[in-house]
Amino acid sequence: MRLNLTEYLESEGRKAEITVTYEKPSLEILPEAKELAGTFSMNLSIRNEEKGCVLLQGSGTLICKDVCDRCLTALDTEAPIQIEERITEGEIRGEAGDEAEERSYLDGYELDTDRLIEVYAAGAYPMKILCKEDCLGICSKCGHNLNEGDCGCDRFVPDPRMAAIGEIFAKGK
Ligand SMILES: [Zn+2]
Ligand SMILES: [Zn+2]
Repeated sequence: MRLNLTEYLESEGRKAEITVTYEKPSLEILPEAKELAGTFSMNLSIRNEEKGCVLLQGSGTLICKDVCDRCLTALDTEAPIQIEERITEGEIRGEAGDEAEERSYLDGYELDTDRLIEVYAAGAYPMKILCKEDCLGICSKCGHNLNEGDCGCDRFVPDPRMAAIGEIFAKGK
């Protein structure tokens, strides 16, 4: 959704509560997109704080379909977001100089709510996705999920340095 902030910046005391829905099927947070487990909507409050200054506030939890980093089991992952942004007209006009924040969700006076949600979700999305803290992962030989019991494979990996020494001995014979 694109919202024009002009009236909220200009009219003192102007405020609104808007239901904002994330409009894409996947949460586009770099480096990859995460498929949403359900529609994400939240209430966004837009309030004029003083002339030329608007305050945006809203919170909610995005739920995405993801997989455990170790065992690849599908699981829902939550990204709780809490938006609080104060935007000034001076910033929009480029008069705030070096102190202006980088606001990729603003295009002039227009607010791109999808992008605003993405910026916050990217910061809130867990770095590590694990089905449980002590997930055992999968067998490197047969791909069996080791949380479901051992598969009986011999997963002993010889140390490559030891293997090199072994080769030297073998050549010497
Ligand atoms: Zn796991
Ligand atoms: Zn195995």
